[in-house]
Amino acid sequence: MLANPKVTDDSHHLDVSRSDKPEEACGVFGIYCPEGEVAKLAYFGLYALQHRGQESAGIATFDGDRVHSHKDMGLVSQVFKESVLHDELIGHIAVGHNRYSTTGSSHKVNAQPAIVDTRLGKLALAHNGNLVNTVELREHLVDRGCDFLTTTDSEMIALAIADEVDSGKDWLEAAISAFQMCSGAYSLVIGTPIGLMGVRDPNGVRPLVIGQLEGNPVRYVLASETCGLDIIGAEYVREVEPGELVWITESGLVSFHWSPKSEKKLCIFEMIYFSRPDSVTNDETLYTYRMRIGKQLAKESFVDADLVMGVPDSGIPAAIGFSQASGIPYAEGLIKNRYVGRTFIQPTQTMRESGIRMKLNPLKDVLKGKRVIIVDDSIVRGTTSRKIVKALRDAGATEVHMRISSPPVTHPCFYGIDTDNQNQLIAATKSVQAIAEQIGVDSLAYLSQQGMLEATGEDINHFCSACFNGDYPIPIPESVKRSKLILEEVTA
Ligand code: SF4
Repeated sequence: MLANPKVTDDSHHLDVSRSDKPEEACGVFGIYCPEGEVAKLAYFGLYALQHRGQESAGIATFDGDRVHSHKDMGLVSQVFKESVLHDELIGHIAVGHNRYSTTGSSHKVNAQPAIVDTRLGKLALAHNGNLVNTVELREHLVDRGCDFLTTTDSEMIALAIADEVDSGKDWLEAAISAFQMCSGAYSLVIGTPIGLMGVRDPNGVRPLVIGQLEGNPVRYVLASETCGLDIIGAEYVREVEPGELVWITESGLVSFHWSPKSEKKLCIFEMIYFSRPDSVTNDETLYTYRMRIGKQLAKESFVDADLVMGVPDSGIPAAIGFSQASGIPYAEGLIKNRYVGRTFIQPTQTMRESGIRMKLNPLKDVLKGKRVIIVDDSIVRGTTSRKIVKALRDAGATEVHMRISSPPVTHPCFYGIDTDNQNQLIAATKSVQAIAEQIGVDSLAYLSQQGMLEATGEDINHFCSACFNGDYPIPIPESVKRSKLILEEVTA
């Protein structure tokens, strides 16, 4: 993922310390494995899903009646030590979470899984998505006398289930009653003393897949993406369907369709950018989809040039597709330092000046004297693009044409992706020509909505593409809309 680069005074290195992309919304993982090191398997599952959230990580395990948990701020590799996984996180059921905060501020207390008490024992819940009816849900829970430890919608879901359990229901009845009070996007993995649950909201906005480990048939895995299965050698079984609850216990896996049938509305940004390119959807990797939208982009907005390059890493598959469809050679013109992650230790000003920073480094001898097409997956605020274009020109490119493998982002997301308020989205207020001038390119073109959706090979109505068209598939309360849809408020 590229991020808000700053060109230094003395070099063209780009600082990628802050994102200028929509931020991923969280990764969830669950495993039921009667004889196995579930904590270690959960650790590697979360490690593969790290791109979905880098703020905090957590694992909770169930060992009969007891729950053990460890969660903290930081990357998966920073949060867990071998001794914690081996000695503390014992049991046969594990629930894991990588967090990027979309509701609730950035504190350890908001790290997940959320753990709450019930009359049947504790439950641990990991959530990817965002509820849109938190005001009503919170009021209901306050009326019911629930106490909140955090400011997250995820804890509200956990408390709603606990409240239903405490009113006499079993785990399944309680969970289904709670989900009927929830509106919004949620893919959930929930651990209990007797079983593991996987749930998707009725529209399936966020992904969730089921895998199985070889051996004893009752060894199931749940993960946001198939890359979370691959890393531990689990076989992909299928997606959890929209509005489905799967319940995994010692008897195996049973499925419940708990909501009235609704149209599937998978977030199209999962296809374009969020999910890892090696994750599989509709029997193909997202790398293949991203190459295909690059080809479509070349058909829609060909321009003559000497080379095509992608913004590392997320723009590269579409750039290769663009090159294949246009016949213009593909080249790498920007090199990303792949050996750095997000750091919580801030460099000093002196260190910054001496160049200790995450870098995108232009290849001068590749770019010098060349007409360049640079492909990226999206433009949100435009700050990144402007600095990349400047760096390419400074490295000797004679023309810079930008092609974007998604349509202009004009609306914010309310379903768990951090895309800023509407007035911070450059395409919400500026024409394509005005954006081209602001970022300093010779030409700029975006992929059409039709092209983006048709390239999925699925029914084009099965996707949420609200951030490109404002057509929100799950109704958003006016008060919530007002928090982000500044322009509509102004023009209303
Ligand atoms: S609004 Fe955009 S980012 Fe949010 S779920 Fe829909 S397509 Fe995805």
